[in-house]
Amino acid sequence: MRVIDTIAEMQQQADQWRREGLVIGFVPTMGYLHDGHLELMRCAKTKSDRVVVSIFVNPTQFAPGEDFERYPRDLDRDMALMAPVGVDVVFVPAVGEMYPEGYQTYVEVGEISEPLCGAKRPGHFRGVTTVVAKLFHIVKPHVAVFGEKDYQQLLVIRRMVRDLAMDVEIVGHPIVREPDGLAMSSRNVYLSEEERQEALLLSKALAEVTRLVDGGERAASVLVSAAQKVLEQGARVRIDYAELRDAETLQEITTLDRPGVLALAAFVGKARLIDNTVLRP
Ligand code: AMP
Repeated sequence: MRVIDTIAEMQQQADQWRREGLVIGFVPTMGYLHDGHLELMRCAKTKSDRVVVSIFVNPTQFAPGEDFERYPRDLDRDMALMAPVGVDVVFVPAVGEMYPEGYQTYVEVGEISEPLCGAKRPGHFRGVTTVVAKLFHIVKPHVAVFGEKDYQQLLVIRRMVRDLAMDVEIVGHPIVREPDGLAMSSRNVYLSEEERQEALLLSKALAEVTRLVDGGERAASVLVSAAQKVLEQGARVRIDYAELRDAETLQEITTLDRPGVLALAAFVGKARLIDNTVLRP
């Protein structure tokens, strides 16, 4: 596993692989890896000859007052976790390498980045699309794998790639969960034991709504209320949003007459957690 921390060296490696006709797979992360990340890497391996993982806590996707400074970082731990997976290059640029003095270029996707996390985290998706676009120019992947846990992020990136004719295939990977249902997240380390228990209410809310849909319920207001009711069982849970939207466009829907995504964001203690499920009528 080679560690690269400069853009020039990463681009040289990518160019060399491309000259050799090798397919490059890419998994961008912010590190503090868990099995969800590792699954994305294993998936990338099945679709490529060489796998690059980036670890970069991207300051431009954090709004003021969010957890950029205290976001967990541990490169040695991450390296040990990746070792058995067969990652070829770990790209770990410093903030100054990605955003040198005078940096002033941003990529912004329109409507699909506006609701949900876009509304709650001003500038978040602008930061995400900017860093992902830049990473694509550095790593030059043929295939990039993203998790469905960040459902809106996946749609925003697909939109960016289509709109800007970026020559990279975007693969979405299902949410990886702990055995008890909690969606894996680097931010789960923020949770105390009591909070960890109440964090389960997110996946429980999704399961309850899926049960209602399976039983024939189609009214968005009923489905969203049911999710809210489950979340409200947690004294340490503060709902940031609970919404049912069109699974492709993220436009509001009142009836589940096409695939919809039930998207949840909630603070559990200090941790802001997200989860979602796609509901099919
Ligand atoms: P992050 O390091 O949290 O920015 O995530 C890096 C990538 O891993 C993103 O594409 C996420 O959607 C994905 N990811 C994070 N957690 C999970 C999970 N529990 N299941 C599937 N993908 C995940």
